[in-house]
Amino acid sequence: MAKQEDQFKKVISHAKEYGYIFQSSEIYDGLSAVYDYAQNGVELKKNIRDYWWKSMVQMHENIVGIDASILMHPTTWKASGHVDAFNDPLIDNKDSKKRYRADVLVEDYCAKIENKIEKEVKKAEKRFGEAFNKEEFKSTNGRVLGYQEKIDTILKRLGKSLENEDLVDVKALIEELEIADPLTGSKNWTEVKQFNLMFGTKLGASAESAMDLYLRPETAQGIFVNFLNVQKTGRMKIPFGIAQTGKAFRNEIVARQFIFRMREFEQMEMQFFVKPGTQKEWYEQWKETRLKWHLSLGMGADNYRFHDHEKLAHYADAAADIEFKFPFGFKELEGIHSRTDFDLKAHEEHSGKKIQYFDPEENKNYVPYVVETSIGLDRMFLAVFSNSLQEEELENGTTRTVLKLPAVLAPTKAAILPLVKKDGLPEIARKIVDDLKWSFNVSYDDKDAVGRRYRRQDAAGTPICITVDHDTIKDNTVTVRDRDTMEQKRVLISELKTIVSEKVDLQNWLK
Ligand code: ATP
Repeated sequence: MAKQEDQFKKVISHAKEYGYIFQSSEIYDGLSAVYDYAQNGVELKKNIRDYWWKSMVQMHENIVGIDASILMHPTTWKASGHVDAFNDPLIDNKDSKKRYRADVLVEDYCAKIENKIEKEVKKAEKRFGEAFNKEEFKSTNGRVLGYQEKIDTILKRLGKSLENEDLVDVKALIEELEIADPLTGSKNWTEVKQFNLMFGTKLGASAESAMDLYLRPETAQGIFVNFLNVQKTGRMKIPFGIAQTGKAFRNEIVARQFIFRMREFEQMEMQFFVKPGTQKEWYEQWKETRLKWHLSLGMGADNYRFHDHEKLAHYADAAADIEFKFPFGFKELEGIHSRTDFDLKAHEEHSGKKIQYFDPEENKNYVPYVVETSIGLDRMFLAVFSNSLQEEELENGTTRTVLKLPAVLAPTKAAILPLVKKDGLPEIARKIVDDLKWSFNVSYDDKDAVGRRYRRQDAAGTPICITVDHDTIKDNTVTVRDRDTMEQKRVLISELKTIVSEKVDLQNWLK
């Protein structure tokens, strides 16, 4: 556990030191759970967004994008259920006066049991060596099965109580499990209460005429209210999807874990409209498609798993998370939800307008069903960043810090380094920059010895370094150094574009 915490601290400080993420309003001691993306962070974030957009929108003939407003008519949130049901169950500790999400306390308790399972697996792995079969061990070992059963029973009960809004039972569960305040160890809890997560604001100049609004807590509703506009103007035929990326706001209570849980964050969502009755198939298909997208980045299949929801939101008939192994354990990265016709029907009711699709094959009108994929851009950023940050022992006994970002996402694709700041080398390096910058984000760096520059670029996540030296003047060749293998090879300047492109071209990754 301590090791995990250390690793997470390293992630946070590295993100600051290398210009990825700053705390918001830091000169005023920051604002809790609000962050700013710095010069490198903004590039990484944009590249993740582009990677998603390319694969979800531009590669699908039947998916189009929109960019809806953050502010929406307040009835939207009545219809969507957010005014009445977008609540977190909260519990206070009477001694420490700290506030927690009751469901998170129980889930953290289960995560501890899960750690015990991991320990058993590691022990057995050591014992059996090569012959070890992890899946078989997990499905047959008595102790592991006991732990797993305990987790399943607890989560099932939590899910049921939350679904039935039985907050008394949630409290009872916390007491039965003897869950203590993680900070103080006190078990002196208040009742569990519901707390609405939407940020309120006002529209209008005078106090009397002002209208109460909310900052959107999800981007999805901007898509639902535009369903007919897009379907008609785009002549879209079911099944089709509408996608968007954009800010969402939630007044989160348990706002810790860096950019994992923020109050202002960005979502990348796609709502796929289908014929009623076919939602199950599409749900399975989108689960598979989205997992493939994650795996295409090469961050290790073992770092992902599905978690099917026991507790379904008020709008869903099936839901699963793609969980990722963050430095603090497996947690939700993306949700895939079968949202039924709940939202479109609710907007029909509240607006009094017919929101239906005429299906020419069936020759009838219906309200489509929706399967959505919803991923937090910031959470994806954290997944990529934390997984990429590595300390490596080198053959000469030293260590290096390297940020092994998937090259397609790296903020800077190549750094061009003149060996020395004289003899015409900077001029050649600048010329290479001027040539490559039309196609890639590249940088020029001539400070310090070249070895130190390599280390700096490794830590910043730049996949390629291109060094110009005295031989370059004679034969037009440069040294290309690979961030991950540290291999160096001599190539012609004229080959550089192809070499960089092969490494970072989106097509090579997504295919
Ligand atoms: P959680 O259970 O972690 O609160 P959620 O189930 O409420 O998340 P959804 O409403 O399904 O999340 O939102 C879809 C995605 O948006 C999540 O998978 C996550 O990646 C992202 N997300 C949700 N809340 C936040 C937040 N406060 N900060 C950053 N990302 C978030």
